[in-house]
Amino acid sequence: MTEAIYQNLKYHGQKVVSSILTEEQLVISLFNDIDNLIDNGHLLKKEIINNIKSFKNIPFPISNHEIFYCSNLDTPQEKLNYLNHRYKFYKANKFHEEYESPPYLLLEPVSACNLRCPMCFQIDKTFTRKPFMGIMKWDLFTRLIDEAEELSVGSITLASRGEPTMHPKYSEMLKYISKKKNIFELKTNTNGTFLSEDICHSIFNSGVSTVVISADHYEKEKFEALRKGSNFDKIVKNVMQLNEIKNKYYKNTRTEIRVSGIDFHKNLDREKFNNFWQPYCDTVSVGYAVERWDTYANEPHPEIKSPCSFLWDRMYVWWDGKANPCDADYKSYMSYGDVSTSTIKDVWNSKKLKEFRELHLKKERGCLNPCDRCGLDFG
Ligand code: SF4
Repeated sequence: MTEAIYQNLKYHGQKVVSSILTEEQLVISLFNDIDNLIDNGHLLKKEIINNIKSFKNIPFPISNHEIFYCSNLDTPQEKLNYLNHRYKFYKANKFHEEYESPPYLLLEPVSACNLRCPMCFQIDKTFTRKPFMGIMKWDLFTRLIDEAEELSVGSITLASRGEPTMHPKYSEMLKYISKKKNIFELKTNTNGTFLSEDICHSIFNSGVSTVVISADHYEKEKFEALRKGSNFDKIVKNVMQLNEIKNKYYKNTRTEIRVSGIDFHKNLDREKFNNFWQPYCDTVSVGYAVERWDTYANEPHPEIKSPCSFLWDRMYVWWDGKANPCDADYKSYMSYGDVSTSTIKDVWNSKKLKEFRELHLKKERGCLNPCDRCGLDFG
């Protein structure tokens, strides 16, 4: 194993106690154990091992995030397994390689939300009622996580259309996922309203990789106008508490706290935004809104022809088991199966999803609603 040399290195603006490898050190650490690494017949693992042996490099562009993650894994074999997952995701995302199982799964504990932000589909009154609203049953959840583990789905996000912390078993869900060895990255999103002390501890105890708090401003009045129904002071207090708990009880955690904003009116003072939130988190990010508050009424985008990587690299699963390519299609016009009555693997290999992929590859995504009008461009 490579000697750990960086102590208290700043990562995402936050001090972490664990050691961070450089890319070169990561390669050397794997090379030193190369004869003991087991590929289990996986082609991508074989390729990674061969590249390390022959060229002393990793066969895909490795990010700081991936190096950071590898640094926290104990054995070379665990690092290889993780790199295998990231390589699979990379090939699916960039080259539209088809795999037998999704590299990334987004599970929705609940579809409801306590807020009504103007840039979100939760303001669509035809959505916030039956049959769209509901919460995931525990049995379905555990079966999906067990299958995800078997299929080596490497990344899971616990969130999608609703506010996940509203699920009465949210903490248990995190804990259940944390026991799985082949699920490396666990992300969760929240609007911060229900971040109780108990939930904060569950997040760190479950080794969540990233907790994303959606927050779109730094001034109370503007924040509450954008995040309609929220209480700015309470959310700031909750984010501060999350950060305090991390610093006090989980100094060596690898959990990244990220505050993520949407610059809805395209006039956000990003420096002020960053200065306000940075003391309470590890990363601050801001993006522009994707038009998905009423996706189906968007103007079509005939100029966008690039295939959407989501059809190859991820599967969204709603609370009732419906599988979907994305949450821009929040009313499931393009649902390609139901994992409550079928397996993840069968749904991922469904005829319908293959047809969507073919249309996208032929630059005919304009035949699909809402792909013809969602505005997401991978080109
Ligand atoms: S609606 Fe947009 S994000 Fe969803 S699959 Fe189609 S192109 Fe991709």
